[in-house]
Amino acid sequence: MTQPAASARRGRPTPHIAPGATLGVMGGGQLGRMFVHAAQQLGYFTAVLDADPASPAGRVAHFQVESGYLDEAGLAQLAQRCDAITTEFENIPAAALERLAATRVVAPAAQSVAICQDRALEKAHFERCGVGCAPYALIDSQAGLGAVAQQLLPGILKSARLGYDGKGQRRVADAAGLAEAWDALHRQPCVLEALLPLRFEISVVVARGADGAMVHLPVQQNLHRDGILAVTQVPAPDADPALQQRAIDAARHIAAELGHVGVLCVEFFVLDDGRLVANEMAPRPHNSGHHSIDACDLSQFELQVRTLVGAALVMPRQHSAAVMLNLLGDLWFARGETPTEPRWHEVLALPGVHLHLYNKLEARRGRKMGHLTVTATEPCGARDVALRAAALLGIAPF
Ligand code: ATP
Ligand code: MG
Repeated sequence: MTQPAASARRGRPTPHIAPGATLGVMGGGQLGRMFVHAAQQLGYFTAVLDADPASPAGRVAHFQVESGYLDEAGLAQLAQRCDAITTEFENIPAAALERLAATRVVAPAAQSVAICQDRALEKAHFERCGVGCAPYALIDSQAGLGAVAQQLLPGILKSARLGYDGKGQRRVADAAGLAEAWDALHRQPCVLEALLPLRFEISVVVARGADGAMVHLPVQQNLHRDGILAVTQVPAPDADPALQQRAIDAARHIAAELGHVGVLCVEFFVLDDGRLVANEMAPRPHNSGHHSIDACDLSQFELQVRTLVGAALVMPRQHSAAVMLNLLGDLWFARGETPTEPRWHEVLALPGVHLHLYNKLEARRGRKMGHLTVTATEPCGARDVALRAAALLGIAPF
């Protein structure tokens, strides 16, 4: 087992940043928006750095710096405005976080984010932690392509960097398909993973403070469609308590060994033979943790704020069963090629529905426009209502 990062080992003193200070977030997407909401609830001012003047987070923050992630002037402006800075997006260049960290509290650290940005480094970290992952090979040359072991096929070719929501991935059946797929991905460094027989998928969201304290959300069960998260159920209907504990222990170990400060989500596969395999991790709140806003007494976004300002981490308690449905842009096209607003008024008439829309200007297929969490006393109640909401919106049953 490797040693945790030096800063984590030393138990670096936790800075206490009091309400009234300004918290910044790199990236203006929906995760940044929900971070801003949580920070504002706790009495902080908020700033967002994003080049898009209509970014979902920029629309609700006190300040927006309109610049690219590596723009010197933009980074200087964000640092000048903020007491502490976090990120909502793992593809922020590490150099930008390092630049900010020279003068400001930044969490997570560039080093943590850099590992999560790269599938090969990420898998090496899982292996260092003794957590299994899919058999894989790194493909970064023609020779590497030719030397691929047969047991990795059929497989999934994934770009090593900058993939999300199933983008930058191709399923491949055989050697010829692999060569084609690598061409289609512009011959960038990729990871080829064996296609595993999945029984179901789960994820665990962990929050870790600078002093090493850790808490986690309950285990979430996730259904993906076309590589994009579609449905999350909590409690996880198919994961027994022993499996849940194994996933929690693995996620905590992965976060601790990374010396991570902030929120981190680990996605797992549960295989047909019952084995638990780590898929990937994200150094930030995660789509599968959105239920925590409405179904837990502490959300993943408040946890992100707490880790950033050095506030206490308290174990979140799930007070309601929950089903979360992602609302993709496809729903706007359920009744034809001209985008029409989904039937929100009918969905809002259902009991226990919490609708979250991100104020994105244009609905596009595959684009995350919002999510909906159904809460109820019992899991079956949440599921029944979620199925009714899904039917009204044109989401396939689950
Ligand atoms: P996101 O950002 O939404 O998490 P991503 O683009 O990073 O997605 P992955 O998490 O790597 O993509 O894969 C998306 C989904 O594809 C997985 O949740 C799983 O359903 C399926 N998948 C990925 N890798 C494998 C595999 N090796 N075997 C079987 N299914 C897989
Ligand atoms: Mg994933």
